[in-house]
Amino acid sequence: MRGEVLIERLADRLSGVRGKITPNAEMEKITWFRAGGLAEALFQPADEDDLAIFLKAVPEDVPVMVVGIGSNLLVREGGIPGFVVRLSAKGFGDAEAIGPTRIRAGAATPDKRVAALALDAGIGGFHFYHGIPGAIGGALRMNAGANGVETRERVVEVRALDRRGNVHVLSNADMGYSYRHSRAPADLIFTSAILEGYPEDRETIRGLMDEVQHHRETVQPIREKTGGSTFKNPPGTSAWKEIDKAGCRGLMIGGAQMSPMHCNFMINTGNATGYDLEFLGETVRARVLETSGIRLEWEIKRIGRFKPGHEVQEFLGQLL
Ligand SMILES: Cc1cc2nc3c(=O)[nH]c(=O)nc-3n(C[C@H](O)[C@H](O)[C@H](O)COP(=O)(O)OP(=O)(O)OC[C@H]3O[C@@H](n4cnc5c(N)ncnc54)[C@H](O)[C@@H]3O)c2cc1C
Repeated sequence: MRGEVLIERLADRLSGVRGKITPNAEMEKITWFRAGGLAEALFQPADEDDLAIFLKAVPEDVPVMVVGIGSNLLVREGGIPGFVVRLSAKGFGDAEAIGPTRIRAGAATPDKRVAALALDAGIGGFHFYHGIPGAIGGALRMNAGANGVETRERVVEVRALDRRGNVHVLSNADMGYSYRHSRAPADLIFTSAILEGYPEDRETIRGLMDEVQHHRETVQPIREKTGGSTFKNPPGTSAWKEIDKAGCRGLMIGGAQMSPMHCNFMINTGNATGYDLEFLGETVRARVLETSGIRLEWEIKRIGRFKPGHEVQEFLGQLL
C-alpha cells in the first residue's frame, strides 16, 4: 500500500516518465538469495534519457538506489524505502566491440555476455567475466574480479547519472578502485562503460574461459541460491580459511547455511529469510573474531531496513 501512496504523491512529476513503475516490488524475485522484503517502488527506465527525467522529477528527500542482477545483495525484511532502480536489458543491455581491443557495454549487460563478445572479437582479458553472474553496473561498483583479474584493469571510462539526473563521465582514476570497492560517489548510477583488453587468439581465450567454468563447478555452490563470497578476504589470509578454523563450515541458522562446499558462500537452503542470512553472517563474524582476532568485512551488500524485532547487531554485539 505504501508504494501506491508514494507513486500517487509523485504522479504529476512522473507523468513524463516512459519506464515501468511497480509499487511494493518483491525483492526476493530479483535477488539471487531469493529472500528479503519489498521495495516501496521499483523503477525500470526505458533508456538513459528516461532515467535522467525520472531522477530530475523525484524530490531529493525520496531515497533512490540502484540494483543490478542482485547477485551480491541481501535485502532485509523491513523493505527498501523510496525507489529501487533496475536498468532494463532493452535500454541498457547493448554491448559491442568499438575497436580492436575496446568494448562498449551498457550497465545491464551480463558479465558473461561481455566475455562471449570479447571471445568473438579476439580481445583478451575478459575471460574472468565468464564466471561472474552479475551485470556490468554491479561489476563497476564492486570492482568485480576473479582468476587474478579485476574490473579496474579493464575500465577506460564510465558514464553515469547523479541523483539530479546530470551526466558524468568518469576516468579509471575517478572510479577510485580498491579490492571489491569503488570510491565513486554513492549516488551515481552507472549507465555504460568503455572497457579495454588486449589482442589475444580465440583458442587461448576459449581455454581460459573453460578453466574458469571448470574451477567454479568444482569448488563453488554455483547452482544454489547464494550471493557469492560473503566476506572479503582479510589481508594475508582467505576468509574461507578463517571461517573453517572457527568451525563455521556448514553452520546453519533457520534456512541459511555456510556452504559445506565453499564455506565463504552463504546459501539459502529453501526458505531462509533476510534475517536468517544476516544473523548467520554476524554469527560467523563473531566466531572468527573470537578464534583468530580477525574482523571479517562483508562483501555482500546488505540493503533495506530491519523488520521491527528482527534487528541484527554487528558481531552480534559481542566483543566490540
Ligand atoms: C555464484 C556467485 C559467484 C560469484 N562470484 C564472484 C566472483 O568471482 N567475483 C566477484 O567479484 N563477485 C562474484 N560474485 C558477486 C557478484 O556477482 C558481483 O559482485 C557482481 O558484480 C554484482 O553484480 P550485480 O549486477 O548482480 O549487482 P547487484 O548485486 O545487484 O548490486 C551490487 C552493488 O552494485 C551496485 N550497482 C549495481 N548496478 C549498478 C549501476 N548500474 N550503477 C551503480 N551501482 C550499481 C548496487 O547498488 C550494489 O551496491 C558472485 C556471486 C554469485 C551469486
